[in-house]
Amino acid sequence: MDTEALRAEARAAFAGLLAPRRLDRPATVLGAGADDLAPGREYLEALTPDGWAVPTWPRAVGGRDATPAEAGVIAEELAGFEVPDLYPYLVGLHVVGPTLLAVASPEQRGRWLPVIACGAEIWCQLFSEPGAGSDLANVGARAERDGDTWRVNGQKVWTSRGAYAHRGFLLARSDPDVPKHAGITAFCLDMRAPGVDVRPLRQMNGDAHFSEVFLDDVLVADHDRIGEPGSGWAVARTGLANERGALGAVSAGTGVSATRLAALVQARGREADPLLRSRVAAMYTASEVARLTRGRARARAEAGQVPGPEGSGAKLRASAAFKTSVDVALGVLGPAGVAGSDPVAEEWQMLFLTAPSVSIRGGTDEIQRNIVGEHVLGLPPEPRVDLDRPWTEVPR
Ligand SMILES: Cc1cc2nc3c(=O)[nH]c(=O)nc-3n(C[C@H](O)[C@H](O)[C@H](O)COP(=O)(O)OP(=O)(O)OC[C@H]3O[C@@H](n4cnc5c(N)ncnc54)[C@H](O)[C@@H]3O)c2cc1C
Repeated sequence: MDTEALRAEARAAFAGLLAPRRLDRPATVLGAGADDLAPGREYLEALTPDGWAVPTWPRAVGGRDATPAEAGVIAEELAGFEVPDLYPYLVGLHVVGPTLLAVASPEQRGRWLPVIACGAEIWCQLFSEPGAGSDLANVGARAERDGDTWRVNGQKVWTSRGAYAHRGFLLARSDPDVPKHAGITAFCLDMRAPGVDVRPLRQMNGDAHFSEVFLDDVLVADHDRIGEPGSGWAVARTGLANERGALGAVSAGTGVSATRLAALVQARGREADPLLRSRVAAMYTASEVARLTRGRARARAEAGQVPGPEGSGAKLRASAAFKTSVDVALGVLGPAGVAGSDPVAEEWQMLFLTAPSVSIRGGTDEIQRNIVGEHVLGLPPEPRVDLDRPWTEVPR
């Protein structure tokens, strides 16, 4: 479609559905300090009939068959309007959705994608375990097959959205007698199934929508398996690359944008301070590099390739931008940055307490740097001693 025609159509549609964006209103980022699921669901319900919420998805499952470049134009137009924090819906929209489009059966896509697109079903990601975080391929939750059913036992941890999700994107070990990457299978888990015990954990910013999840003889139908048995690592990598791209987008168009930070600096009369100007510019630069890196990922997707290390680069820049912005904001706010109780001070205090987690969730900064080192710079890989040994024989 002609770019200018699409731009005009998107702008007119959003003007009818959404309020213009306001920089002076406190916003939440990554769900921090907000457990309210309604604004996101109402937004998705409003945008889904014309496929604006997930434009690159096929029309049949809630999208509008847009190319990645067209989706970029739509996102640019959306930036002019108020968009709620879609954090509760992020795994479904940006991790599970693209993964299902790449690997799921048509029947599964028809069953799961439309209800993700309109916000009716929320997904969480059941990957990390007490013994498998950075070394995710070490997952030990067991899935044993019995005919058309799988029996799952084990423990997951740090499950964001686990406290309210309907479905979980689960990685479990289906064959412990082969090397670790080869014995994992991915499933869709019904979070309300008997044997699923979700126990919320409290983070330092006060949020408790992050949980440990115990799985005790949970039965999963084989038609809820995602991909072939033993292909779970490839499925997970597709999901993780999409997650990094999505987390890399967090600084764009949300509460931690450079525009928003500059607005705070101006509102406090500090715009002439050369040091602050330089730090806001550094934050803007990191955000722009993340945006351009995501553009490269889009071009790759357009060429029919799966997301690569670009997501790691974007995530690193976005984490850096997030941290710089909260640091600058608290400096500008002065004592109000720690003790102020007006909405603007409270918003930045919450972001400050959330910022360290951005360097951990979705894979730590160190792991992203390893990926960039190995896959972008061509540095030698880390020594790995467990690649050819059955998982059961690797000391843990
Ligand atoms: C807010 C938040 C939300 C999260 N949400 C989810 C979720 O929804 N679902 C989910 O499955 N997980 C989730 N996680 C878990 C997250 O993905 C893991 O915490 C992360 O991958 C790190 O794993 P770990 O905590 O086991 O730390 P470890 O892997 O034990 O790492 C500890 C430290 O060692 C470093 N390190 C480890 N290996 C290497 C290496 N090879 N080279 C260099 N340094 C290394 C790490 O960078 C880190 O600093 C979340 C985490 C946070 C903080």
